[in-house]
Amino acid sequence: MSDEHFYLRSFPDPVLKQPTVPVEPDTDIHKLVRAMKRILAEQRGLGLAAQQAGSLHRVAILTLAGQQTVAINLEIIGRSKMTVLSAHEGCLSVRVNGKLFRMNVRRSRQVVARWLDENRQEHTRRLGGLDAIVAQHESEHLDGRCIVDRLDPRQLEREGLIPKGVAA
Ligand SMILES: [Zn+2]
Repeated sequence: MSDEHFYLRSFPDPVLKQPTVPVEPDTDIHKLVRAMKRILAEQRGLGLAAQQAGSLHRVAILTLAGQQTVAINLEIIGRSKMTVLSAHEGCLSVRVNGKLFRMNVRRSRQVVARWLDENRQEHTRRLGGLDAIVAQHESEHLDGRCIVDRLDPRQLEREGLIPKGVAA
């Protein structure tokens, strides 16, 4: 089997709305991880969630402290009460006229994230700054949500994300 069916999915592809399922110990995700790394390299992104490659395994790739990190079964297990406005946050799956769509997103300032690496070793890390934003963005994807889900149909229409006349 080739990894041909793994390609970058774009809003409003319904796969982006579907929550992922946890990866079991015997689930082989090598091909998926390879494809996700390829997509991320092509797009020069900071992170990618499995749905963006068309898969429903709970796998994300995060750039943490500049290091590409495979995060299997990623969960945010703690959040600071303090929030921060993530300015001009983009998503590789959301483009308007070929350009990344960007918007301001309210995020927790710090999070505690837990995941398994490719050797299925567990990691728990407190993340701040850009790392916290990336982890929240990707874990949100893994739950079936995307930054533009914060917009109502009228805003989506105005931003050119859905065709005119669709919003009621
Ligand atoms: Zn995204």
